[in-house]
Amino acid sequence: MIDLHLHSNASDGSDDPADVVRLAAAAGVTTLALTDHDTTAGWEAAAAAVPSGVRLVRGAEFSTEAPDGRGGRVPAHLLGYLFDPAHPAVLADQERLRGERLRRIRVMADRLRADGYDVDPEGIAARTGAPVGRPHVGQALLDLGVVDSVGEAFRTFLGKDGPYYEPKVDTPVDEAVATILAAGGVPVWAHPWARTRGEVIEESVIVELAGRGLAGIEVDHPDHTPADRDRLRGLARELGLVVTGSSDYHGTRKEIPIAAETTAPDELDALLHGATGAEVITGGA
Ligand code: AMP
Ligand code: FE
Ligand code: FE
Ligand code: ZN
Repeated sequence: MIDLHLHSNASDGSDDPADVVRLAAAAGVTTLALTDHDTTAGWEAAAAAVPSGVRLVRGAEFSTEAPDGRGGRVPAHLLGYLFDPAHPAVLADQERLRGERLRRIRVMADRLRADGYDVDPEGIAARTGAPVGRPHVGQALLDLGVVDSVGEAFRTFLGKDGPYYEPKVDTPVDEAVATILAAGGVPVWAHPWARTRGEVIEESVIVELAGRGLAGIEVDHPDHTPADRDRLRGLARELGLVVTGSSDYHGTRKEIPIAAETTAPDELDALLHGATGAEVITGGA
């Protein structure tokens, strides 16, 4: 089983990177990708934990924004695999987003505190050391006993249409694609039609990005409907893009288990062919 999108506590997952690797192996995963938001901080610990018979693809999920194809712009997540983590463009993007993420949860925390919810953004940032996001704020609300789950925090406090939401300034998606390619990596559009999170892009936007080096589409994702998967699969075939499937595991921060969605072996081979920025780690080798 191949699962190409998992988060650790290097970003907004709940498990240590090494535990993500161990849990994936225990779940029967033979190739996993660690794809924390805007950081490669978990790569080393994950690589050291890969057991024999398991392969680790190191990656990240880049916070981007894209034209929606209707004249507006929307947030979009871009998975990058096997890029050089020391490439200056990668480092600059990740550093900018770390600061921007902190700015934005400070604004959200100010609004929450004004309503009596004692959320401390500096404490969150210091405790986690991660590029902070709404799931960390949701965890803080859970720890305060204000909600019973991070999911409930999203529904009640953190959602895009709620009073506490503050957007972060993301990187233009074409720039992020160029960064990943320049660093020898492979860019894949993450959950393009996760409609429950807000407005999503039109197909034309994927067509345009395919012309700029996009390598694949995450078709099988827990947030995609069967009809959308069919359409995305067809689009990938038309454009010659790789089709991936992944759980987007976040530990206890989300309810989806590892390997809830998977990628076909031939799609993985096509995807990683040509990546030059980092190696796949083979356990026991
Ligand atoms: P942010 O990047 O800080 O705006 O937060 C987005 C993150 O929240 C993504 O990593 C999602 O995986 C996560 N997320 C989005 N919706 C939910 C939800 N309903 N429950 C838990 N996590 C969510
Ligand atoms: Fe996340
Ligand atoms: Fe995502
Ligand atoms: Zn993700």
